[in-house]
Amino acid sequence: MATFKAIVIDKAADGQSVRLTDFDEKDLMDGDVTVAVEYSTVNYKDGLALTGKAPVVRRFPMIAGVDFAGTVESSSHPAWKAGDKVVLNGWGLGETHLGAYAGKARVKGDWLVRLPASMSAREAMAIGTAGYTAMLAVMALERSGITPARGPVIVTGAAGGVGSVAVALLAKLGYAVTASTGRPAEAAYLKGLGAAEVVERKELSGQPRPLAKERWAGGIDAVGSTTLANVLSMTRYGGAVAACGLAGGMDLPATVAPFILRAVSLIGIDSVMCPLPLRQEAWGRLESDLDRAKIAAMTSEIELADVVDAARRIVQGQVRGRIVVKIR
Ligand code: NDP
Repeated sequence: MATFKAIVIDKAADGQSVRLTDFDEKDLMDGDVTVAVEYSTVNYKDGLALTGKAPVVRRFPMIAGVDFAGTVESSSHPAWKAGDKVVLNGWGLGETHLGAYAGKARVKGDWLVRLPASMSAREAMAIGTAGYTAMLAVMALERSGITPARGPVIVTGAAGGVGSVAVALLAKLGYAVTASTGRPAEAAYLKGLGAAEVVERKELSGQPRPLAKERWAGGIDAVGSTTLANVLSMTRYGGAVAACGLAGGMDLPATVAPFILRAVSLIGIDSVMCPLPLRQEAWGRLESDLDRAKIAAMTSEIELADVVDAARRIVQGQVRGRIVVKIR
């Protein structure tokens, strides 16, 4: 019997329970590639899943964890062989398919991206789904013609995972970044990542007006709700905003005024079902365009036994930067 440690979520009559347990390899789900998981990470969605705050998990028992990096142990998929270094984000991992907080994962080879040559498994998970989503958002702004010459860009939820990587990426690419945070004590941290200006979250949390003073050419929003509505109302003519999160709420109390009077675009970002070519491009760009020393400085490392506590902290907005989980 081959077993490994795993964090398993069970459903009970009075809610869900979470346990760190020995999991038998024979109970993994079908897939054509088995991966020895080396690192995972704690994303906001992992926090929602482990605390049960949102119905992320749709199969029980479930091994939690939405992303991992590791080494292929065995494969019947033509693209992969034993020893290949891989990274996986989303595709229902930790939601409908047994997830990443485990010594092994069995997945579809079509879900995997080759780990960039110069990146370690730990570095990939320091970036994690949060950082890969930030990269998708930056690429979306670029496709909309938002170049550094167009003016400043705003990042909301800036001290969180998506926000921190977005600030670092945009700054390295030459954008003047305005970082919005509810934690003014993190201003020095955000400037260290490359933010040109730090604004307080409350500037973007008042009742949104249809149109407000034009402030930025574009934005990456991890917060949603009133914050996104305010960001849109303050976006300059022809600008674009990439919406990727809901840390402040799922609603959007906005009007169409920015779209029809200022030709502002609102771009949706999804990392989970994102097509493979876009993922490969994003990981390639993360290899070339991200200052990994900055990511290393904002990353803390925990073990499987600490994941539940980290999950609680991330949904309370208490995590700065990124957390990696050492699996083996
Ligand atoms: P974090 O918890 O690390 O960051 C979220 C940040 O949002 C917090 O650090 C805080 O930033 C800010 N925030 C939290 N609560 C509130 C609030 N009530 N009002 C305003 N701001 C708030 O999470 P991640 O960075 O991992 O994820 C951010 C969001 O992106 C989440 O909603 C997540 O679900 C989503 N996401 C979406 C993906 C996709 O595919 N679309 C993929 C990955 C994440 P500060 O303290 O600086 O204000």
